[in-house]
Amino acid sequence: MDNCIFCKIVAGEIPSAKVYEDDKMLVFKDIEPKAKVHLLCVPKEHFAFLSEADDKRAALIGSMLQTVGAHYKEWGLEEGYRVVINQGENAGQTVMHLHMHLLGGEVLGW
Ligand code: 5GP
Ligand code: ZN
Repeated sequence: MDNCIFCKIVAGEIPSAKVYEDDKMLVFKDIEPKAKVHLLCVPKEHFAFLSEADDKRAALIGSMLQTVGAHYKEWGLEEGYRVVINQGENAGQTVMHLHMHLLGGEVLGW
């Protein structure tokens, strides 16, 4: 997708502090962390919103969550973490490529 910052990160055209990569997804540090550990979990396929998830994408999102559940201890989230997906204006979504925020590394306020 042209002009999508996360597609550029997936393609390696923009550098990122990567902590994990496989054939489906990439996990890297958020450039403006909102918690001690703030990672972004991004599918390699471009789509903007959870509401665009057909069966195939739903399976992809499930598999991304499974990977988070398998690897969180390696990413500094062993004491607990929060998963957030923002959609749309009210949630403050700024990048229109689906992503999960993984927040932790400290006690989180609500
Ligand atoms: P949203 O508000 O869309 O859910 O979250 C987008 C997130 O992407 C923000 O937390 C923002 O700090 C992060 N972000 C935006 N541009 C970049 C970038 O170029 N590199 C990295 N690592 N994070 C970015
Ligand atoms: Zn994209």
